[in-house]
Amino acid sequence: MLPWIVRRTRLPLLSLRCVDCRSESATTGGGRFRVNANGKLLDVWLLVRCVSCDRTSKLTVHERKPASSFDPAELHGYNVNDPQLVSSRLLDPLLAHRNRFSLDWTGAWRLDTPSAWLDEAWPVRVEVAFEDPVPVRPERLIAHGLGLSRNEVLRRIKCDVGLRRRTSAGFTFTVLAGD
Ligand SMILES: [Zn+2]
Repeated sequence: MLPWIVRRTRLPLLSLRCVDCRSESATTGGGRFRVNANGKLLDVWLLVRCVSCDRTSKLTVHERKPASSFDPAELHGYNVNDPQLVSSRLLDPLLAHRNRFSLDWTGAWRLDTPSAWLDEAWPVRVEVAFEDPVPVRPERLIAHGLGLSRNEVLRRIKCDVGLRRRTSAGFTFTVLAGD
């Protein structure tokens, strides 16, 4: 079984319409949170910036949450703009759902494959693992990873998931010998 790994190379952009210039792309940039205390309640936002006009928007991470209910390490992370916390919040589907944006993974990930086929006998089995939740179409990923045309993929690949349905969950496939 050959291992393939999908991993991000940077944070994805956000597909989010700017209220000023109507661009539909925003970035977390270096990654900053804003924490605002209102009595014993805290609001936490993740700041994002329009890639066209630089307008800053706030995405709600926590809204009027009692300060005492925060994990102290997490709260510290918000205060120091911990990069790990920035990425885990950005990639959390709940944040996207609540703030009505989707992630734009274009150019933000790569596929790592073993450099050689290691003299495997046909058919070859490949296991695809995802280090980050990048949605890919198996058909396109396999064509790219093996340098095959789409027709060849349809002819030579047996896959345990739909080839055309986007997924970010691990799957396996089998490559049959060519002609
Ligand atoms: Zn803008």
